[in-house]
Amino acid sequence: MSSDFLSLAAPGVRTLQPYQPGKPESELRREYGLSDIIKLASNENPLGPSPKALAAMRDALSGLARYPDGNGFELKTALAAQLGVPMAALTLGNGSNDVLELVARAFLTPEHAAVFSEHAFAVYPIVTQAVGATARIAKANPPNHEMPYGHDLAAMCSLIDDRTRVVFVANPNNPTGTWLKTAELEGFLKAVPESVIVVVDEAYFEYVEVETDCPNALRWFDRFPNLVVTRTFSKAYGLAGLRVGYAVSHPQVADVLNRVREPFNVNSLALTAATAALDDVEHLERSRAVNRDGMQRLLAFCRRQGLAWLPSAGNFLCVDVGRSGREVFLELLQRGLIARPVDNYGLPRFLRISIGTEAENARLIEVLADVLKD
Ligand SMILES: *Cc1c(COP(=O)(O)O)cnc(C)c1O
Repeated sequence: MSSDFLSLAAPGVRTLQPYQPGKPESELRREYGLSDIIKLASNENPLGPSPKALAAMRDALSGLARYPDGNGFELKTALAAQLGVPMAALTLGNGSNDVLELVARAFLTPEHAAVFSEHAFAVYPIVTQAVGATARIAKANPPNHEMPYGHDLAAMCSLIDDRTRVVFVANPNNPTGTWLKTAELEGFLKAVPESVIVVVDEAYFEYVEVETDCPNALRWFDRFPNLVVTRTFSKAYGLAGLRVGYAVSHPQVADVLNRVREPFNVNSLALTAATAALDDVEHLERSRAVNRDGMQRLLAFCRRQGLAWLPSAGNFLCVDVGRSGREVFLELLQRGLIARPVDNYGLPRFLRISIGTEAENARLIEVLADVLKD
């Protein structure tokens, strides 16, 4: 081979580090020959999809020879009604990851910059670099802050200049779990120039409890035309494998996003399942309750063990294991438990643990206590 294809790649792509997903169960089964495996590594819903979504998909199977509805009319109708926004404000994506990419493709060029925080979701640098734009990374809160390693909005604000077109805010943030309170985020939205798109990534919105004061950013939908709120069916709705998410924005922004969107970016089973899942309030409530209970158990365990953790408004907890999080991750793997090391997020002593079912949490607690005792 005489070509060096890496050197032929677009400049931003050459230095890209691919996203590192949670280790799939099937991989652990192949590598270690284990059968009884628990995955608490990707913040999925441990209860699985809504039974209504499964039934709707079964009914839709015979229609698979047809292209999906490229405009997602039924899902958009249901979302618009539930969220109280016009249908023209919605952009559907192949997961909310797809929507984040649409924002980058539509608004960023090599002349422009995106601002986001340290220890924020790994997809922001990827979508920024892939289009050759500059990533400006704000220092996060210090470890002794009320929200350790969380977004420092003042630091983010100070990085915004004439080149900035997009700011990514994760609320709550992954992998830290930390969040921005209503007044803080509102102040930030007021301070950012209207020419800068502010993406508020609410992947964990459905898990957020009222007393956290972590806002539903859609409350500002009418006030800030540069606001783009993204959500997903991958987390609380239990449909991560189907890939469906959405953005809510000013219709003019949605129109721009729609121009770079792949015509059939959300497949027909995903559209059908998401529409049915939205309707299954009971499943969502059960999922929230399982998360609340599981979180309490994991927090009690941390207290007993004298382990520190980062405050979390999501369905996962970032635990300070007091030594290399990756080492602990590997020891858990050998015992059939998949958690998530976060050294690649600049948090080498932490382990991110998704909340599972009652039985899964119990097993995690037992095995982790055993691993940490030596
Ligand atoms: C999981 C997650 C997403 C959602 O990803 P999908 O592409 O919708 O599966 C988006 N943002 C954050 C912060 C996440 O943790």
